[in-house]
Amino acid sequence: MGSFDYDLVVIGGGSGGVRTARFSAAAGARVAIAEERDWGGTCVNVGCIPKKLFGYASHYSEEFRDAARYGWSSMAPRFDWPTLRDNKSAEITRLNGIYVNMLKDAGADVLEGRARLTGPHEVEIDGQRLSTANILVATGGWPYVPDIPGREHAITSNECFFLDDLPKSIVIVGGGYIAAEFAGIFHGMGVEVTQLYRGELFLRGFDDDIRRHLAAEMRTKGIDLRFSTDVASIARANSGYSVRLADGASLEAGLVMYATGRRPLTSGLGLEKAGVTVNDDGTIPVDEHFRTNVPSVFAIGDVLGRLELTPVATTEGMAVAATLFGDGPRSVDYTNVPSAVFSQPELATVGLTESEARQRHADGIDIYMARFRPLRHTISLNDEMILMKLVVASATDRVVGVHMVGPDAAEILQGFSVALKAGATKADFDATVGIHPTSAEEFVTMRQKAA
Ligand code: NDP
Repeated sequence: MGSFDYDLVVIGGGSGGVRTARFSAAAGARVAIAEERDWGGTCVNVGCIPKKLFGYASHYSEEFRDAARYGWSSMAPRFDWPTLRDNKSAEITRLNGIYVNMLKDAGADVLEGRARLTGPHEVEIDGQRLSTANILVATGGWPYVPDIPGREHAITSNECFFLDDLPKSIVIVGGGYIAAEFAGIFHGMGVEVTQLYRGELFLRGFDDDIRRHLAAEMRTKGIDLRFSTDVASIARANSGYSVRLADGASLEAGLVMYATGRRPLTSGLGLEKAGVTVNDDGTIPVDEHFRTNVPSVFAIGDVLGRLELTPVATTEGMAVAATLFGDGPRSVDYTNVPSAVFSQPELATVGLTESEARQRHADGIDIYMARFRPLRHTISLNDEMILMKLVVASATDRVVGVHMVGPDAAEILQGFSVALKAGATKADFDATVGIHPTSAEEFVTMRQKAA
């Protein structure tokens, strides 16, 4: 590798790229990493982190209401959007700096500007050419808005973190993670929310009971959730925008947000020039060690079009660092990857849905389910209900799916995902003593089969 300027040049300073650069540099490799926007990528700047902060902010409205029956009064809560937006931005700026420092401390060269491949071993960044033994493409994705008349009027998750003003009402289009999360966030901030999804039930791919339960909870909280609804066009209207639906009806809202998936950011990167194969949808095919068809070029994260999740990208990045500069070829196990939708209430899941389990375990599955009001709400009288569900393979007694809708679902399921990864059986769950009084203890006290 000595004849090159670098052992590895990483294109993209998001979660995956930064992790790979840090671990590679820490292993002694000569590493450069390039980023054209903000350090930390989608997750830090327009994704996970600011979204979670907004989620905390929006939860307060309900907590203020719940507090009344616990004896707290004389609060007249008023929400000031610019305070939240600007405090969030200050925190993100702090994190951007931390990312750069972590890279520098690890010994990586930090380059700001747009990089592109000019060959299998060469990257150009703002006119400067760097030769490198290996290149990692970790450029992530970008919100996709379908081609409908008036699409230019819609904001996406890129813009919603920086709005000048909070609208009085919003139409959110989409039925995935981002749409469900922002429906809850805007609703909690006092915005009138209508969420439109084209299919019969949103959050396709999650367990059906969980999807139905969350839809009912969101409606109870006051979100106007409409399924089997397609948007035909968007136009400006006096007070905001008019959204015309495929069935001829129309809706007026102060803002329209599209959350209809993301597409890989792989065009204009010079991939063709380096001979790297790119699929028609922009994703990059790789082998089990994240190597493209060009042996010196690797790709990880959202450009693969697999699981678009930060911890998956960082895990892939560590595999690349280990493969190139560590203890040898490493791949990633994509089974039992937990995930959460930070909707309100929160949804978290690991393992198989009931319908997936029925297909994979022909010899039968057992379902355990609990629906209950959390202790906290016995006094607050908030009518939010928790749903917990276990999917068990009858022949082996292995728990193959754990699903939950309710407060702290993500925190609770992180631990249960270790149990699933370790191959825990229902008997292991039953033998585990609960922590009382918690909601989580319900997972180890479910005795009655629901199906
Ligand atoms: P998702 O893939 O989760 O959802 C996209 C939604 O848009 C689906 O409901 C889909 O419908 C719908 N859709 C797609 N195309 C159209 C169209 N042409 N017209 C109308 N509706 C359409 O994408 P998101 O944008 O919500 O998020 C992107 C990814 O980011 C997620 O998949 C997730 O991996 C990641 N993410 C993770 C988070 C977390 O971990 N908490 C939070 C936010 C994002 P259908 O189901 O019918 O195809």
